[in-house]
Amino acid sequence: MASYDFDLFTLGAGSGGVSGSRRAASYGATVGICEDSRVGGTCVIRGCVPKKLLVYGAHFAEDFADAAGYGWTVGETKFDWPTLIANKNRETDRLNGIYKKLLSDSGVKLYEKRGKIIDPHTVEVGGERFTTRRILIATGARPVAPEIPGIEHVISSNEALDLPELPKRIAIVGGGYIAVEFAGIFAALGSEVTQVIRGEKVLRGFDEDARDALTEALVRHGIQIRNHTEIARIDKGPGGLTLMPESGTPIEADVVLYATGREPNTRARASLYRANTEGIGLENVGIATDKFGAIPVDEWSQTSVPSIYAVGDVTNRLNLTPVAIAEARALAETLFNDNPTSFDPTDVPTAVFSQPPVATVGLTEAEARVTVGAVDIYRSRFRPMKHTLTGREERTMMKLVVDRATDRVLGCHIVGADAPEIIQGLAIALKCGATKKQFDQTVGIHPTAAEEFVTMRDKLPDPVAKAAE
Ligand code: FAD
Repeated sequence: MASYDFDLFTLGAGSGGVSGSRRAASYGATVGICEDSRVGGTCVIRGCVPKKLLVYGAHFAEDFADAAGYGWTVGETKFDWPTLIANKNRETDRLNGIYKKLLSDSGVKLYEKRGKIIDPHTVEVGGERFTTRRILIATGARPVAPEIPGIEHVISSNEALDLPELPKRIAIVGGGYIAVEFAGIFAALGSEVTQVIRGEKVLRGFDEDARDALTEALVRHGIQIRNHTEIARIDKGPGGLTLMPESGTPIEADVVLYATGREPNTRARASLYRANTEGIGLENVGIATDKFGAIPVDEWSQTSVPSIYAVGDVTNRLNLTPVAIAEARALAETLFNDNPTSFDPTDVPTAVFSQPPVATVGLTEAEARVTVGAVDIYRSRFRPMKHTLTGREERTMMKLVVDRATDRVLGCHIVGADAPEIIQGLAIALKCGATKKQFDQTVGIHPTAAEEFVTMRDKLPDPVAKAAE
């Protein structure tokens, strides 16, 4: 049998790469990993973690204002953006150190250099070549923006997390989850926020009721939404940046953030608004990417080359940290623990940390109608109890999508405070195949918003029946 320097060599030490490498090493594999930026990857360094810390920071503005309704007199408050950023950086530095220690404690050899595939059993890392029985590609994704004139003046989510000062006016282009999260952060902290979207409302792909509820909430939170707008050009002048739409009035801003999508880190791209990014050597082994640059894999995360595997955002399946981790761990189980495991992508819960947050698990109403046909819809919209005393115009929306034939709950959707915390438990119920009857038999916790999920009794009329009225 051929002998190799490593049993597994991983490109990219983010969520997937670190967890898969550690799990493989725990089963006795010799594992090497390389990282060309910072160990921890997108989630820890420039994604979930720093973003959530900023969301926490932003919430205080509302909390101070709401305190008055509960009898508090809050003295003068003052916010200092550089302090928040410095403290956030201290935390990401700490996590970066923890991730490195986790790797070394597991016996994984870390190379803090860029890696490239040379052949099905060889990688090159910072000029040095290693042979390896198997290769795991876990190189994640990077922000992309359209190649319009003036795009060099904009920032991506990477830079938004490290701006030297809080912008007075920020334009955020995009309607996806990253865009609405940053819109919420900057608006709460006092920036004038304009969000530019192509369609009618934010969060394409989410349940329509959730999209409506969040789009309305963003407006209530002072965010100006410019819908049906395509930006043709960005001009820089002495007074700041001007976004020139294809039609309609220009938008003035001090900072323009593009959150219009991410593409897998696979191929070289010279024409991004960022510096050149080299490829990872897929051409050396004949792995073809799809039109988004993603690496096609089977349910075992295996590519078209038998010794090469890929997990996480680079495969563009479900681009979430817990999914990258689960895919990577399943792979390590399969390859190194004689325990064939594939990740089940159904009923994956997900949250958007907008203000208010959105959380969802299972099918949207539209998806369910296509998948099973007849569905029963239960929906509740109410004013959260907390705001009866604050006077704040806030609404919560909760919705259940139920298969009429089997009574199985197919989807749960929430827009409102604590949505991400509530949905996790509901995801377990869906994974267990819970029926609406079992939801109804569950005793609620009073007084909470979550109890609404076990007390919704009235179905909405069918759309056809409604149209016939
Ligand atoms: P990554 O974590 O991106 O890791 C890939 C690593 O590979 C990177 O460190 C990169 O530097 C390195 N690399 C790339 N090329 C090479 C090379 N040639 N050689 C060596 N190293 C290389 N997900 C959630 O679940 N919840 C959230 O709240 C959430 N919020 C997010 C907020 C933002 C702003 C962003 C951008 C993403 C967010 N995500 C969130 C998505 C989440 O971060 C990703 O799904 C997750 O990090 C994917 O893990 P990964 O291992 O595939 O890639």
